[in-house]
Amino acid sequence: MTTSRSPLRLNVGFLLNQPIGSFRDVRFEADHLQLAPDFTVTSLSGLIRISRTPVGLLMDADFTAYIPAECVRCLNNYVQPLHTTFQELYAFRNSPVSDSGLIVPDDGNIDFTPLVREYLTVEIPIKPICRPTCAGLCVECGADLNSEPCEHRAGIILED
Ligand SMILES: [Zn+2]
Ligand SMILES: [Zn+2]
Repeated sequence: MTTSRSPLRLNVGFLLNQPIGSFRDVRFEADHLQLAPDFTVTSLSGLIRISRTPVGLLMDADFTAYIPAECVRCLNNYVQPLHTTFQELYAFRNSPVSDSGLIVPDDGNIDFTPLVREYLTVEIPIKPICRPTCAGLCVECGADLNSEPCEHRAGIILED
């Protein structure tokens, strides 16, 4: 996962010798990115604010990407936006918090792909819906009620 082709890879060496409290905003863009064999996103864009702290580099991230989806109500294909924000600390190897997981590598090269994959995966809806007002399909005749109101639907409304 750490190939130099990854658009989410960054060398953070430029921040390591900066005073505590220094920060840098770094933007990430990818038209098309395969995060996992079965998870490819399009139009990925993100911003990570990297702050130098006494014990490591704090990452405040905000990412948006899109996936193809099928609405569970009307069965139409649509593009589902995914948005996530997260905060993670990459500890310096010899800091008191270095057991907590993420470590700033000696060469300074961090690939954010695993983190972004993890956080965007959580945002994938279990029951994708093309829009909150999607009317779905008629259970009687299968008509897409977003585009063609049918007689059964009218009946339901009258009974309300
Ligand atoms: Zn729908
Ligand atoms: Zn109907």
